[in-house]
Amino acid sequence: MVVETTVSTPLGPAACENDAKKLEFIEEMTANTDKVQEKVLAEILSQNAETEYLQRYKLGGAKDRDAFKAKLPVVTYEDLQPEIQRIANGDRSAILSAHPISEFLTSSGTSAGERKLMPTIQEELDRRQLLYSLLMPVMNIYVPGLDKGKGLYFLFVKAETKTPGGLTARPVLTSYYKSDHFKRRPFDPYNVYTSPTAAILCADSFQSMYSQMLCGLLQRHDVLRVGAVFASGLLRAIRFLQLHWRDLSTDIATGTLSPRITDPSVRAAVADLLRPDPALAQYITSECSTDSWAGIITRIWPNTKYLDVIVTGAMAQYIPTLEYYSGGLPMACTMYASSECYFGLNLKPMCTPSEVSYTIMPNMAYFEFLPHEPCSTGLNIPKLVDLADVELGKEYELVITTYAGLYRYRVGDILRVTGFHNRAPQFRFIRRKNVLLSIESDKTDEAELQAAVERASALLRPYGASVVEYTSQADTRAIPGHYVIYWELLVREEGRWPEGEVLERCCLEMEEAMNTVYRQSRLADGSIGPLEIRVVKAGTFEELMDYAISRGASINQYKVPRCVSFPPVIELLDSRVVSAHFSPACPKWAPTRS
Ligand code: AMP
Repeated sequence: MVVETTVSTPLGPAACENDAKKLEFIEEMTANTDKVQEKVLAEILSQNAETEYLQRYKLGGAKDRDAFKAKLPVVTYEDLQPEIQRIANGDRSAILSAHPISEFLTSSGTSAGERKLMPTIQEELDRRQLLYSLLMPVMNIYVPGLDKGKGLYFLFVKAETKTPGGLTARPVLTSYYKSDHFKRRPFDPYNVYTSPTAAILCADSFQSMYSQMLCGLLQRHDVLRVGAVFASGLLRAIRFLQLHWRDLSTDIATGTLSPRITDPSVRAAVADLLRPDPALAQYITSECSTDSWAGIITRIWPNTKYLDVIVTGAMAQYIPTLEYYSGGLPMACTMYASSECYFGLNLKPMCTPSEVSYTIMPNMAYFEFLPHEPCSTGLNIPKLVDLADVELGKEYELVITTYAGLYRYRVGDILRVTGFHNRAPQFRFIRRKNVLLSIESDKTDEAELQAAVERASALLRPYGASVVEYTSQADTRAIPGHYVIYWELLVREEGRWPEGEVLERCCLEMEEAMNTVYRQSRLADGSIGPLEIRVVKAGTFEELMDYAISRGASINQYKVPRCVSFPPVIELLDSRVVSAHFSPACPKWAPTRS
């Protein structure tokens, strides 16, 4: 018998030898933040010295920060689009990276309505895997015994496409789940999932969710943690259970899998677990048929110690609903990552959501920080600060230089320094720049909303009607959440009030105008509900202004907020609604890029 003794580390007691090594690695990286950063930059610059991009800026083989900062511009995705387009079209020369581009990762951030394409290289998979491997050793410090059971995680792959030059383009998690790193992962008692890999890899979202839920129910006593990547994903799973518990119970009672699951590899994987279990079916039926679903997670999975979901940033809106369904279980936000690069992890994963800070791991990329001045005109870009030099309490925009060939790239995330672990700063995620509305991974900005309103309001013209003012709200009280757009209409004397059917068409027209991530979430994933237009009484937006002024806003500078979340403002708007209309169909979406 192997008896594991706990090893003490500065982060806390390691659960096993392997954990101790991982925790020591975190200590080493964070204690030497600046040195590691210097080395990472030198590696990136020497590896890519011969690339067209670095040659263009005449770095002349220099590997030091001074030359790098003096010669290379800070860029956005739009600046890099010509290079990215050439790679997508099949140019295999060393444009951004000396290593061959293995695929594109499609970000949920969009540019001109399409997902941004992030070039990546094979070795980045190892770097991502390395960050994943640090998560459980940290969690094991706080939650003992996670090797005695399983994790119920709802994980999904999404559609992938080929670029004109033949490279695969897909979301970073789809790439990871389809990689050998995930598919052929060695057994690790701390990372055992209830979902069979075949169910996770099934591209049909209904079959994938159904089989993952069924396997989670069948192993309900083994489940020690329940999770999804983002809070919205876990709530979708709860909603799925609300809609399908009868079919799931029947399958469990009879020991036969629903014919709606047609994927042979999923059927085979579920068959390994499924036996007739009338008592379990009866239990699920009695729990799911009660009126109140409060605490349903712990009623069905009684040994759950915590929820593993990101509830920071745009996901914070789901905290109350998750608390309701879980009876107040802790919510662990373990990592902070993006398609461009994985950034870091939360060293205190059991803290409350409002306290979450992420420690950026200095080995992942070279990080710089643009001091964030909310009122800056954008004309004078302030000097960028290094990872080791950020100041406590200040806010910055994250700028990255990656092994895959992004140089001084603005990610668009605003972070605040909340403390340090050794020499590594820790950051609270404040927000993503320019995001007005978000239900799950969709990010709609003000310009997109404006364009959508303009396009839809054209349908009112034949009626002599127009939209005089509008605002919006991400309504997440029901799952899936949906966009609500408040419209105040003006109908000219010779015009007439548009019928409900016209306003429904306006809803759909707005959805057609939204970016691809929104339309995919509506059509393929069903993770966003139909867009709603609430028509408010004439004069409502004036009342809104009066309200803002009564709370101290300046009359001269008042602008109609294009998105509202403050409950009294929503109440005011809702009390003036004269009619509400929903999109009657899903907008068009196809995996191919337009
Ligand atoms: P994507 O480009 O689709 O991979 O999305 C990456 C973005 O998701 C990041 O730049 C953040 O804006 C957001 N994000 C990722 N992880 C977190 C987190 N832990 N908390 C808040 N936002 C996050």
